[in-house]
Amino acid sequence: MKRTIHAPRGSQITCKGWLQEAAMRMLMNNLDPDVAGDPDNLIVYGGRGRAARNWEAFDAIIASLQQLENDETLLVQSGKPVAIFKTHPDAPRVLIANSNLVPHWATQEHFDELERQGLIMYGQMTAGSWIYIGTQGILQGTYETLGALAKQEGWPSLKGKFVLSAGLGEMGGAQPRAITMNEGVGLVVEIDHWRAERRLNTRYLDAIATDLEDAMTQVEEALKLGKPFSIALIGNAADIYPQLLEYEVTPDVVTDQTPAHDYLAYMPHDMTFEAALELRDKDPGEFIRRSGQSMGRQCAAMLEFQKKGAIVFDYGNNLRQRAFDAGVEHAFDYPGFVPAYIRPLFCEGKGPFRWVALSGDPQDIYRTDEEILKLFPDDAHLHRWIKMAQTQIDFQGLPARICWLGYGERARAGLAFNELVRTGAVSAPIVIGRDHLDAGSVASPNRETEGMLDGTDAVSDWPILNALINAVGGATWVSFHHGGGVGIGYSQHAGQVIVADGTSEAAIRLERVLTTDPGMGIVRHADAGYKIAIAAARRHGIKMPMLKD
Ligand code: NAD
Repeated sequence: MKRTIHAPRGSQITCKGWLQEAAMRMLMNNLDPDVAGDPDNLIVYGGRGRAARNWEAFDAIIASLQQLENDETLLVQSGKPVAIFKTHPDAPRVLIANSNLVPHWATQEHFDELERQGLIMYGQMTAGSWIYIGTQGILQGTYETLGALAKQEGWPSLKGKFVLSAGLGEMGGAQPRAITMNEGVGLVVEIDHWRAERRLNTRYLDAIATDLEDAMTQVEEALKLGKPFSIALIGNAADIYPQLLEYEVTPDVVTDQTPAHDYLAYMPHDMTFEAALELRDKDPGEFIRRSGQSMGRQCAAMLEFQKKGAIVFDYGNNLRQRAFDAGVEHAFDYPGFVPAYIRPLFCEGKGPFRWVALSGDPQDIYRTDEEILKLFPDDAHLHRWIKMAQTQIDFQGLPARICWLGYGERARAGLAFNELVRTGAVSAPIVIGRDHLDAGSVASPNRETEGMLDGTDAVSDWPILNALINAVGGATWVSFHHGGGVGIGYSQHAGQVIVADGTSEAAIRLERVLTTDPGMGIVRHADAGYKIAIAAARRHGIKMPMLKD
């Protein structure tokens, strides 16, 4: 169905309080055509990541939020509003559970069958938890990851380095900009011309080529000049990666962000995009067989690049698992990005902190930017990021910002934003949230919890505790999902969003939640035995009854 949704702007509200209004605007913002990948089908990003189960459920959520009292809580089950209970003013206004299945039945086939019957929906991470902020949301993470990689290799930056990747979707689309922000040269293979155009138009990408030789000529030129440059090549990654090997091209860095978590979203190789879409409609079983085999082919090429000396890492889409299932025995020979580059940050409770100006006024975000720079005057890396973001990123939907902050820092930022709202320095409340990909909110053995020191990769008590402690602390909405990032059966994770509405009650909730949430990251990693996390727990005085050095 064709419907165009934009979140309301300004300081007038149609709900009975700002907390409900915030949830309503953020749900609508997730489906804004400038934000969502396929809003007609309520798909926000990441394959089939939806904001609501169907349009009827969407309308019912909006109506429920508009009627919701300040002491009530709305329950949402896989994108459908199922109940409103009287709770209390400090309780979350919304509790969300998406895509959860009892482990024995947590298979893609069972999920797909329930989805066909309209009984469940895929929430991805921030799609079904109403805190997606467009491609900026992943840009900083990608920028940080590539920056950490360069540092680990002893390179001053990616200047003069060639990065090969694939997928220019809602998350993957951040890659070309993250590569050039690190001064590198990127070639990103994308099957869908429209997706590449979208990235070009939003300044995430510099050029598009339809021919491999043409693309490589431009890549080589930029490398020679040491010039940051990004180019999309229209093609299938499972065709182009092996072709590059045939031409004896070895990039410095190879990764991938195709939607390999979902057999129905990854396009099989050796056929045109249009033919693939037709096959998916007519014979999904054959499509799945061929997409699985193509993922094996792409991963095998990545292993080959690794043998030839490229730095290869998995970027959180479960390609290695799909390839392994397709018979690529050594698929896991290259590491995932979390153990390779991100885990030390998680040990300090650091992760992607994001916020949104409910007013819709970009000035409000610039005001919060100033506040962040003032709060953390000695963090040169953070200052560089905020300044780059201000000049290089166009807002999508409601103006938003992201930066990675850790324990202590998040609570300080939240309280400072609440003051900006209270004093009228910004014109409406600020929504503060994060990705589910965070320090202490995910169990995902092929991604965030890959290779944990104590072998607890698959223990999902942690995200459950994360959701519970954030709910009792008074987050405005809390969600618990299954499958995000890596697909059904492979992860469980929690999200939280909290509103700074300028009240003293909000200040108390903000301080509590923005402490427990990153605190769970430190606790999870300290419990697993990571020395940095143990030191952080001791330094911050986090009470852990059985903590051992
Ligand atoms: P998306 O569905 O919005 O986009 C995927 C893109 O890949 C589309 O543009 C599609 O046309 C393209 N594509 C599909 N098959 C292809 C093929 N064989 N060759 C070339 N291009 C192909 O997905 P997204 O939001 O960009 O996410 C991409 C993947 O990254 C997902 O698996 C997602 O779960 C994962 N992800 C990773 C992180 C992270 O932090 N690393 C975060 C979120 C999501």
